[in-house]
Amino acid sequence: MITRYLFVTGGVMSGIGKGIAVSSIARILKDRGLRVAPVKIDPYINVDAGTMNPLEHGEVFVTEDGMECDQDLGNYERFLDESLTGHHSITTGQIYQTVITRERNLGYGGRCVEVVPDIPNEVIRRLREVARRRRADVVIVEVGGTAGEYQNILFLEAARLMRRGNPRHIAVALVSYLPIPHAVGEMKTKPTQQAVRALQSAGLQPDFIIARGAQSLDAPRKRKLALFCNVDEARIISAPDAEYIYRVPELFERERLGDRLLETLHISSRRYRRPSGGIAAPWRRLLRRIDRAHGELRIALIGKYFATGSFVLSDAYLSVIEALKHGAWAVGRRPVLVWIDAEQLERDTRALAVLGKFHGLLVPGGFGGRGVEGKLRAIRFAREHRIPFLGLCYGMQLSVVEFARNVCGLSGAHTTEVNPKTRHPVIDILPEQERLLRERVLGGSMRLGLFRCALRPSSVAARAYKARETQERHRHRYELNNAYREILERKGMRMSGVNPDRDLVEIAELPGHPFFVGTQFHPELQSRPLHPHPLFVAFAKAAARRKR
Ligand code: GLN
Repeated sequence: MITRYLFVTGGVMSGIGKGIAVSSIARILKDRGLRVAPVKIDPYINVDAGTMNPLEHGEVFVTEDGMECDQDLGNYERFLDESLTGHHSITTGQIYQTVITRERNLGYGGRCVEVVPDIPNEVIRRLREVARRRRADVVIVEVGGTAGEYQNILFLEAARLMRRGNPRHIAVALVSYLPIPHAVGEMKTKPTQQAVRALQSAGLQPDFIIARGAQSLDAPRKRKLALFCNVDEARIISAPDAEYIYRVPELFERERLGDRLLETLHISSRRYRRPSGGIAAPWRRLLRRIDRAHGELRIALIGKYFATGSFVLSDAYLSVIEALKHGAWAVGRRPVLVWIDAEQLERDTRALAVLGKFHGLLVPGGFGGRGVEGKLRAIRFAREHRIPFLGLCYGMQLSVVEFARNVCGLSGAHTTEVNPKTRHPVIDILPEQERLLRERVLGGSMRLGLFRCALRPSSVAARAYKARETQERHRHRYELNNAYREILERKGMRMSGVNPDRDLVEIAELPGHPFFVGTQFHPELQSRPLHPHPLFVAFAKAAARRKR
């Protein structure tokens, strides 16, 4: 089948769930038997998301091949239940870098290289490349930002050029926002009309409007949008807030979005039929499992990337949060996640006692010294009070620091990330990472992507995975220092996962504790609603058993 392309862009404002819309579209097309390849385009100059502050930009998601990208890639993977590569994440920075390098190598044969068409052409080349690699029937391209922004105009230009060449196989959807102003009390369509106009001025008429809002769109407003925006009523899709994101594919199918997409892209709806009941059986079972979950599973997440002052959670821990939900649902519980500011645990020791009220504690990944002593206190509390504990990356490293200090008697033990002169560098930088740091090669220079992990038979980890070996995704510069392995093990910490190629500790656990596991890798990146990560399931199971 000739590859079809659906460009999805935002209207009115960002942060309204465009990524979830794209992920849900990907899911419903996959459930009809189509091969789908989602691509995220970010209009910033950064080559990847690795150098960006998570507070500002949300989580940095890492693909198997080690690309640090936008968190939407995580949503795509979770909804599609497929692993994607770095090719699915495109930034303005990458495009310019490639074009300039090609020009320097005389790749343009001496002619003048211009913003148009050479930049959009490179975008198109990359989209086609993704289609070829994935043998995709449909490529869904999420263009970051909103229509009318200066930044993403060249990506819309790529869509326009593609559509000009092949109008039957290229479609455009606008995910727009319909506010309900407090004083008016009803949904307003005008901002969406203006967003459509902005898109039209970039030469693109949308085929679909996905109308995000607190409520469903009513018939008069659908008619109004159809009239003023030149979009068939049947292609105006109501997308009210959902109780949880995994519900959205079903909501879309209720609006018959799948059929309409197939029509618009000229794909046979007889061949790629809608599954009976709207969505395919595994996804339906997932929704049923979520609906039936009962009894709270209260997990505290001890971190520092919270919006300052307000305690509103940023997206910084998106995959961790989703993985915790997958784990809780898998054991039939309703997840209740509470954010604890690590710095508060430093200032106020009474805050520590609150931790005893939870079923489980999780210390996620992080960087630098801020909040570290608070995290160490929380870890000690979990160890001593036998509260199920999961430490991810920095969380694992700090659990080793805590154990070294308070159980092995190595006072002042630390990670050299925080104290380069510590007497006991139990966590230390890898030699090649140190060289890169010294040369100030920072972007893309961590230990990134998928690495093997051999599991120690009959450990907590091996029993969770039900395997002898696994592969997990990484993003870090520091490691457990093998010089301290002997004393740590002698005092009771078990190294239950090791990378066999380089003898690096991947998992450290405490036998005899109800559940105390730290991972050097990021298991949250591979947890999927249809396939919850085994360590999150084991953690949830142990947490559910805890009597508070
Ligand atoms: N800062 C630590 C390191 O670089 C941990 C990184 C992380 O948690 N992703 O090794």
